[in-house]
Amino acid sequence: MSAPDEPRSHWAWGLASRLPDLAARTLLGEQVAGLLGAGPFAPLPEPSLDEARVREPRCPIPADLAAFATAERAVRARHTHGRSFPDQVRAFRGDFLNAPDLVAFPRDEAEVAVALAAAEREGLAVIPFGGGTSVVGGVAAPTGTAHRGVLSLDLRAMDRVIEVDREARAARIQAGATGPALERQLSDHGYTLRHYPQSFEFSTLGGWVATRAGGHFATLYTHIDDLVESVRVVTPRGLLATRRLPASGAGPAPERLILGSEGVLGVITEAWVRVQERPRYRESASVLFASFHAAVAATRAIAQAALFPSNCRLLDPTEALINLVADGSDSVLILAFESADHAPSARLDRALEIAISLGGRCPRGPVRRVDGGGRAAGDGSAEAWRQAFLDGPYRQSALITLGVVADTFETCCTWGAFPALHAALARSAREAFARCGARGTLSCRFTHVYPDGPAPYYTFVATPGDRDMLDTWAEIKGAVSDTLVAEGATITHHHSVGRVHRPWYEQERPPLFGAILAAAKQAVDPAGVLNPGVLIPEIER
Ligand SMILES: Cc1cc2nc3c(=O)[nH]c(=O)nc-3n(C[C@H](O)[C@H](O)[C@H](O)COP(=O)(O)OP(=O)(O)OC[C@H]3O[C@@H](n4cnc5c(N)ncnc54)[C@H](O)[C@@H]3O)c2cc1C
Repeated sequence: MSAPDEPRSHWAWGLASRLPDLAARTLLGEQVAGLLGAGPFAPLPEPSLDEARVREPRCPIPADLAAFATAERAVRARHTHGRSFPDQVRAFRGDFLNAPDLVAFPRDEAEVAVALAAAEREGLAVIPFGGGTSVVGGVAAPTGTAHRGVLSLDLRAMDRVIEVDREARAARIQAGATGPALERQLSDHGYTLRHYPQSFEFSTLGGWVATRAGGHFATLYTHIDDLVESVRVVTPRGLLATRRLPASGAGPAPERLILGSEGVLGVITEAWVRVQERPRYRESASVLFASFHAAVAATRAIAQAALFPSNCRLLDPTEALINLVADGSDSVLILAFESADHAPSARLDRALEIAISLGGRCPRGPVRRVDGGGRAAGDGSAEAWRQAFLDGPYRQSALITLGVVADTFETCCTWGAFPALHAALARSAREAFARCGARGTLSCRFTHVYPDGPAPYYTFVATPGDRDMLDTWAEIKGAVSDTLVAEGATITHHHSVGRVHRPWYEQERPPLFGAILAAAKQAVDPAGVLNPGVLIPEIER
């Protein structure tokens, strides 16, 4: 087979054409030098895929996969890494030595089943591959010798909206559909899923379900879980198809076991998801707080007032500065409400009343739009935030070319636990920077809020100090992850477990639940073909 065209960068986030150019990266280097009080940072040129070191295939293409599989070097290289910081650094350095041996592009469920049967027969590991945007090593090949080879199973040829149930307002969609592909098809029916993870452009419905992705909604409809009605999953032991039900109290729900299963129990081929009408009314406002603690208190009060804003993002002063939302002296709470049915003015007004009563200022006032009203004039912070949200991943890749360590981690905790967690994370990051001889910053925003607690999202930016940048990253990542678990928070709110988070996930989940997951794996994948070492330990054979 011939490989699909690929405008995406082979090493960085997103489209190759959108990585900041040399001049923009030089400017970014000057800004980072200002932020860290270190430097200078000069950009290295971009690497070429031709010069990359790619492992040779260790096994031939099985005859029954020949029509939809390839061993082409460039295709295998592009399926080697996800898009975590260490993934991008390794790829930037031309290291594709752990490339899968084969890549298959099944066109339907039957071909997925053929691929799994061939893998079991030939002793291959299978890695389900959606958009490859994992930041936790979820699409990386296992490194051991338990398998003769590794097959990356790319689902993106299965990208159709198959059926729409207008009465239930739900759609049946194939797992390989990326965000834009499924939204385009749903819009033909007048609907939208409105699930916008930051990786929306390239990640897939199957990837979202497999990782329990978090969308842009700050409250309600946050995780893809909230939108999934039923799933179809091909396992090495047959098909698992769950019933379409709005709700059920009949025992543990089977589709909930598949949500977050990260490809270790089966390959998700399609899902029925709840869709909605496109919102017509959108209202937003940005509230400034001189004190971060006052901003946290206001955010909690709004989260507990049953107002359900679609956006309720709190940025600390550094986050507000680096995302060009404010000048770095205030925390900023960005509020937005939307509806297809009615103007949400009363809810925004009440949220503003709460925020202002707790020390906030809203100098620009609210912005209210009805469809056709264009972009929200005057809502500068919200617009700046939206643009920064889209550009952020490209900036992170650009920082790699400057030799800067930059990554994010996210968590969730109860409101009462947040102050101690926040202080402990600042301390452990500071100590990790010092151990590496690095200069760094740690900033915080809330991406999602619940009545019982926030989902804080942290960004660290640091010099490599006296170590290789991958070692400095590992020191910081390890320190903050230890702190998350020690303080009773979760290792991830929406980035999933994969290989990177597994050591901390194993401390977080009850030991007996680990045994339950292992038993489920044994039932559907006794040969341990699927994603060995992701989420749960590899089956010993
Ligand atoms: C810049 C950036 C921003 C991000 N923003 C967000 C965000 O806002 N919210 C969020 O939740 N995540 C975010 N992520 C993480 C990532 O995008 C999500 O985990 C996403 O759900 C992965 O989807 P994917 O299609 O790219 O899956 P992949 O990366 O291809 O796969 C992820 C995991 O799921 C498995 N898998 C994929 N498809 C299937 C399938 N059909 N059946 C079974 N298993 C499968 C893979 O084997 C792997 O273990 C971000 C990542 C980046 C790089």
